[in-house]
Amino acid sequence: MTSLLIKNASQVVSPQAQVFRGKELGNLIVERDASIHIENGSIRAVGPFPELETAITNETTIIDAGGRVVMPGFVDSHSHLVFGGNRANEFAERCRGVSYEEIARRGGGIASTVKAIHQSPKEAIKKQAHLNLRRALNQGITTMEIKSGYGLSKETEIKLLEIITELKEEQPIELTATFLGAHAVPKGKNKTEYISEVLEMMPDASKYAQFCDVFCEEGYFSAEESKMILEAGKKAGMLPKMHVNQFHEIGGIQAAIEVGAVSADHLEVMNEQGIDLLAQTDIACTFLPGVSFFLNIPYAPARKMIDAGCIPALATDFNPGSSMTLSMQLLISMACTQMQVSVEEAICASTQNGALALQKSRVGCLLPGWQADLLILDTDNYRNMAYFFGENHIAAVIKKGKLVAQLKESA
Ligand SMILES: [Zn+2]
Repeated sequence: MTSLLIKNASQVVSPQAQVFRGKELGNLIVERDASIHIENGSIRAVGPFPELETAITNETTIIDAGGRVVMPGFVDSHSHLVFGGNRANEFAERCRGVSYEEIARRGGGIASTVKAIHQSPKEAIKKQAHLNLRRALNQGITTMEIKSGYGLSKETEIKLLEIITELKEEQPIELTATFLGAHAVPKGKNKTEYISEVLEMMPDASKYAQFCDVFCEEGYFSAEESKMILEAGKKAGMLPKMHVNQFHEIGGIQAAIEVGAVSADHLEVMNEQGIDLLAQTDIACTFLPGVSFFLNIPYAPARKMIDAGCIPALATDFNPGSSMTLSMQLLISMACTQMQVSVEEAICASTQNGALALQKSRVGCLLPGWQADLLILDTDNYRNMAYFFGENHIAAVIKKGKLVAQLKESA
């Protein structure tokens, strides 16, 4: 049996178990001057040190939080972390005012990432993914979803899913794979042709992926096509997720509801009807403020949606074209300042609610019986994380009761 005691936390912060929406969402549990006892990767107790002290044995490892905050590890429920190449030069062009269309005409955009995936050996793609996973861990992400979608052919899509599956065993972040064959139509193919290829990939993809996703957007896949693809994914054993309403409302919300999506992601462009419809479902509404910031497009109407009763989740959408960040802390700050979400709601959205978007139970809270994924922050007040933005406040990361990253020693 492994036993770990974290003592001397100024605050132990946790969402309330199973509270995903509504006014209660903002009521975080904050235990002051508390300790946490962990056994075999699960939290056994949270409380004052004298109450937990009796459980200490010779085998117990003790970590002194040094009067700092302890909170749940971040659950990033939407990322495209496995990719090839780098688009920094393209970004610089865009900043100089070159249009996205012009960049695409020169062979940039998603086509350049697809090309890099086709040309790179698996080991090179994996090496880059490992570097980025280390960055994610150092930013406090302990659970993460990764999508395929830069292969756009059977061979390369399966190669990406294989890589994600191998990465699960090779580093501490808990990973979930999503099949996103329907990310875009590859150059030189017509859409009908490519959709039937995607359908043919399903049986193999489902050996690796828990979820199936589609980019439902004008110029990509229509609501009807998305529904058909996701129904086929379900038949193959993958649960549906959707990229929806990023630039246009094309009936994707209705499609997400009809197909029983686990999450609807993006939602930058929402009308009242769509908000009301989502509020009546258990679909996690995943906001990706990094994209709005990076592309300078409107933010999702998160405040309105939370007030209407939607379930908010917050994720990085880490990808080389539209959201090159792994900082959930920065996204929490953006949710607060740009989307009028409270600090407390933003914390819930990036922990327990992210876990809901990945159908993971007992992840995202610091309560007895829950998985011991937690962060020690280099501050005595959790609100500093949103307030002092652009700073990495992570001092240490613990995954399933094991110290997996130590960035700052106790003060
Ligand atoms: Zn995405």
